[in-house]
Amino acid sequence: MVILVINAGSSSVKFTCFDMAAGNKVLASGLVERIGIEGTSMKFTNHKGDEVKGEVDVKNPRDAVKLISERLLDAKHGVLAKLDEIKAIGHRVVHGGEKIQDPIIVTSQVKDVIRECFSMSPLHNPHNLNGIEACEEVLPGVPNVGVFDTAFHATMPPKAFLYGLPYSFYTENSVRRYGFHGTSHAYVSKAAAALDGRPLQDLRIVTCHLGNGGSVAAVKGGKCQDTSMGLTPLEGLVMGTRSGDVDPAVVLYVMKLKGLSVEQTDNLLNKQSGILGLAGIGSSDLRDVEAAQDKGNEQCRQALEVYAYRVRKYIGAYAAALGGLDIVVFTAGVGENSATMRASVVAGLDDLGIKLDQAKNAVRSPEPRVVSADDSRVKIHVVPTNEELAIAEFTKVLVS
Ligand code: ADP
Repeated sequence: MVILVINAGSSSVKFTCFDMAAGNKVLASGLVERIGIEGTSMKFTNHKGDEVKGEVDVKNPRDAVKLISERLLDAKHGVLAKLDEIKAIGHRVVHGGEKIQDPIIVTSQVKDVIRECFSMSPLHNPHNLNGIEACEEVLPGVPNVGVFDTAFHATMPPKAFLYGLPYSFYTENSVRRYGFHGTSHAYVSKAAAALDGRPLQDLRIVTCHLGNGGSVAAVKGGKCQDTSMGLTPLEGLVMGTRSGDVDPAVVLYVMKLKGLSVEQTDNLLNKQSGILGLAGIGSSDLRDVEAAQDKGNEQCRQALEVYAYRVRKYIGAYAAALGGLDIVVFTAGVGENSATMRASVVAGLDDLGIKLDQAKNAVRSPEPRVVSADDSRVKIHVVPTNEELAIAEFTKVLVS
């Protein structure tokens, strides 16, 4: 069964084409980027290792999906004989609000819900919907499945999702914690249980998705109990460019102090803060900040310390929320690749039963692995996330 996975963003459409019957083999993947901007280009890689790159004439998501489908059929580099081999299309959608709690086949009602959530996810949901509508036009008759970043967190109890605001803000305006990166938290918690050899049902897991954006989730018996991102992805960890948790009064204070508009404040907190703002070297990439730290840059050392300390606090908080802890999982760009950051996050937690094996932690590998010491009561895992595969698997289940 061939499944196409689409992740449509503000100026890009990413795709992965899987053959689920052949052990979830990736037939082709790539992206069209800078859509609607000068220098639009496409990258297409197939399972034979051919890579085709170059400028393309693509003005909108519809053109992008059309081009992707043409490349999939291409006589030289294509991987399909006919487009009707594609049995379903799985779409990453960021916000499903309270109404969507599971992956779902896209209908006009589902599209209405995606629209209702535009105001809470203005940077993602409109583009995700454009991607779906582009597929409806270019590949008519093929079912589209929405896999929502918020869905995995739908099992959070009210004590975790309610804010300490007047209740009517929740009942009338849907202001609550939703959480994001759900597809990744779901995928890595399942994979961690498989690596551990115990049933997911019996495990209390804290998953740390540390990428450009970052979030932590508390997972018990495979169900999310709490997560660090909130109404929007701004809450929680210190991220590449997002502040994460701040005293809400800080926002009011700086707005008054600097005379900032709502838009400017939004930009400050989402785009100029986090590691970018704290480290002060003009980069939000942890590799650059770690390299500067290694050369003795004190501000960078401090920024990395703040980053690690915030993750550590969430692990502690979620161990308490779960009433104990069996596994801590690290995933995404930073979590999978930075041995120093992992070590820094769990430093000093031996008394809580969380003990790293420095040698195992230093090994680089694309495979899921255990990096805790043999006598660590809580296991520490590094599990590469694979949101595209998770979307394809959910899609396959829904259309089968
Ligand atoms: P996104 O949230 O955009 O999907 P990723 O999960 O791919 O991001 O993570 C990207 C981030 O991972 C980069 O910004 C970089 O900070 C970090 N990263 C990638 N490789 C390394 C590495 N070897 N060491 C430290 N950080 C890394």
